[in-house]
Amino acid sequence: MELINNASLKDFTTFGVEAACDHLYRVEDYEELKLAVQYLERPLILGGGSNVLPIGDIHRNVLRIEMKGIHLLEDGDQPIIGVAAGEVWHDFVMWALRNDLGGVENLSLIPGTMGAAPMQNIGAYGVELESVFHSLQAIEIGTGKVRVFFKEECKFGYRDSIFKKEVKDKYVITGVNLQLTRDHKLNTTYGAIQDVLIEKGISHPTIHDVSDAVVSIRQSKLPDPKVIGNAGSFFKNPVIPTEQFEKIKEMHPSLPGYPAEVGLTKVPAGWLIEQSGWKGYRKGNAGCYEKQALVLVNHGGARGEEIWELAQDIISSVKDKFQIELNPEVNLWGNEK
Ligand SMILES: Cc1cc2nc3c(=O)[nH]c(=O)nc-3n(C[C@H](O)[C@H](O)[C@H](O)COP(=O)(O)OP(=O)(O)OC[C@H]3O[C@@H](n4cnc5c(N)ncnc54)[C@H](O)[C@@H]3O)c2cc1C
Repeated sequence: MELINNASLKDFTTFGVEAACDHLYRVEDYEELKLAVQYLERPLILGGGSNVLPIGDIHRNVLRIEMKGIHLLEDGDQPIIGVAAGEVWHDFVMWALRNDLGGVENLSLIPGTMGAAPMQNIGAYGVELESVFHSLQAIEIGTGKVRVFFKEECKFGYRDSIFKKEVKDKYVITGVNLQLTRDHKLNTTYGAIQDVLIEKGISHPTIHDVSDAVVSIRQSKLPDPKVIGNAGSFFKNPVIPTEQFEKIKEMHPSLPGYPAEVGLTKVPAGWLIEQSGWKGYRKGNAGCYEKQALVLVNHGGARGEEIWELAQDIISSVKDKFQIELNPEVNLWGNEK
């Protein structure tokens, strides 16, 4: 385990905002992690830093999870693969493709680590982690007790899980078991995927074709954090009662909405933000991405406070115009003390 005192979180988050952290531990070893979570006071857990916005300097111990390993746990038509929390998510997707295992191709190129994937039930292009999730191992912070969480216990929802609610900050996830398929059932319902496949003249796509399509769509739409700091979608798409949706639609007839659970409608946050006039807006070093209003960006040298201030301005202007409350998808660090 490597300890970096007075570390700069700029180098460890994709937002690349300026923020110091008193003690950053890079953990590659399971037993060391087990000891660290028992003895360090209220540690914050960090993976690839692609869904975290540090607001101000962080006066906490930060444990960066870097344990590696991918193992076949159970073979068969639907093999179960055990993956260490520090594996890079996209590297795992590539591993699955190389081994002709399906189920995660739509989730290609999502940044971050395996250990963070269950936190918000990562999802993209019509597929969520939940659909391939089997179970995970975690260590309880404070006691060091090991616990297995099976799928039902994780309470997965839209960008949500038990780890963001009832047991928030109580566990560090050390490994995730995923159940993939040898008999592939492709999900190409997402319009943009179909468009790419048609454009390439592919009528019988493989998991590789779907992955390639997803990668090219993502590269054309989303800013590369290596070039411009960001954490993907800053806000979740609000899910509101359908009755409320219908009322707002009377005033804003072009308001898009998609059925969610019974009686609820999901509204695209990017549309609300764009209609409120924020797309391409820049104040100082913080901005709203010109190609996708849902993504807030660090044009270089921004601090987390600037990004958060912009986010709050967006939240209140969308609320004023549409009476809809936006909530951040990104995890805010530094609000808690
Ligand atoms: C360009 C871009 C595009 C993106 N696109 C998508 C997308 O399509 N779909 C999507 O769902 N997300 C997307 N994201 C968000 C991000 O990729 C995911 O949320 C990812 O799972 C975060 O992984 P991470 O390792 O970087 O987590 P971090 O940012 O390091 O951490 C995120 C949260 O998880 C906690 N955490 C991390 N690791 C562990 C662990 N081992 N145990 C317990 N808690 C842990 C942290 O404390 C924090 O609260 C995107 C981000 C970017 C920058």
